[in-house]
Amino acid sequence: MNLEEARKTIRNAKHIAVLSGAGMSTESGLPDFRSQKGIYNTLTTALTFRIELFRIYPQRFYRVIGPFYQQCVSAEPNAGHRALAELERRGKTVEIATQNVDCLHQKAGSSHVYEVHGTIDTVSCRKCHGHFKASQFATVFAQGKVPHCPTCGKVLKPDLVFFGEALPDEPMRLAQLAFLNADLAMVLGTSLKVGPANQLPCCRVDGTPLFIINQDPTCLDDVADFVSHEKIGEILPRLIEA
Ligand SMILES: [Zn+2]
Repeated sequence: MNLEEARKTIRNAKHIAVLSGAGMSTESGLPDFRSQKGIYNTLTTALTFRIELFRIYPQRFYRVIGPFYQQCVSAEPNAGHRALAELERRGKTVEIATQNVDCLHQKAGSSHVYEVHGTIDTVSCRKCHGHFKASQFATVFAQGKVPHCPTCGKVLKPDLVFFGEALPDEPMRLAQLAFLNADLAMVLGTSLKVGPANQLPCCRVDGTPLFIINQDPTCLDDVADFVSHEKIGEILPRLIEA
């Protein structure tokens, strides 16, 4: 469908399910993980994010994630995040499953956000199961040092999903339900290469329109009803113009 038809589809939609990925946040100045300029190719390798390695060398992980945490805290939502929040303000149900850990959807004002890869906003202790706001350890993060549990002294782990860990049940369940119940599905800023979150758009009921906005082509472009390779922050605000 063309831009005008896409706009009409959004206008008529009552329940929108969104899957967002790194492309959404790069427009806010955050690095992604996989691209050539991404974290895995510049600061470190994907190995750093393996749970087994984190358990042995947490300092190696925090040297990288410390600066990334700072970047997330100071990043601002962009026009794409704001457009989704605006749709919610107009009375639509907008449920967002995000692979991003930076809380930018929440900062923009979206209230139904399912963080399928976890969040950088909190940290947990695997020994005493203490749960803390990451901001409590902002100075430690800034120095790239390892934060320790205030209760038992054990190394704290960010509530991000590491390689080798299962995705959190509840956000995935809610995300699947969102796609099942949606009358419009959107994929924003992900190439759909990382499972199992990349399966979410396939949970939609047959006939539910699918929109894909991503810089690179994805495996679902052929079956999508509207595809754009423009920046999300440029195309999405145009799509929701009243
Ligand atoms: Zn503890």
